[in-house]
Amino acid sequence: MTGVPKHLRNPRRWYDAEGIEQPPATIANSRAHGALGLLVFCECGHSGAMPFDGLPDDLPVPDVALRLVCSACGRKDRITTRPNFAGAHTGAGPKLRSVE
Ligand SMILES: [Zn+2]
Repeated sequence: MTGVPKHLRNPRRWYDAEGIEQPPATIANSRAHGALGLLVFCECGHSGAMPFDGLPDDLPVPDVALRLVCSACGRKDRITTRPNFAGAHTGAGPKLRSVE
């Protein structure tokens, strides 16, 4: 079995040492593990937290980034998301708005 060449890899997926794509965490999976929402990071330095509200259970967590636009820099291609296991959404921090 051969893996995916580096230049063809999805930046929102993880690959093992042999280049085999690893299944991403989903919204349902993150919830099951106790996450209370998502942490959102933009490469411009802005970050925030968001609840799972309205997100489909089978949506891969990294792909939530595709639905977001950074309110600070206006870009949508520099955002990453991961499950928030730290605590409840506080409402603090920069806001990211949905593009839907
Ligand atoms: Zn930004």
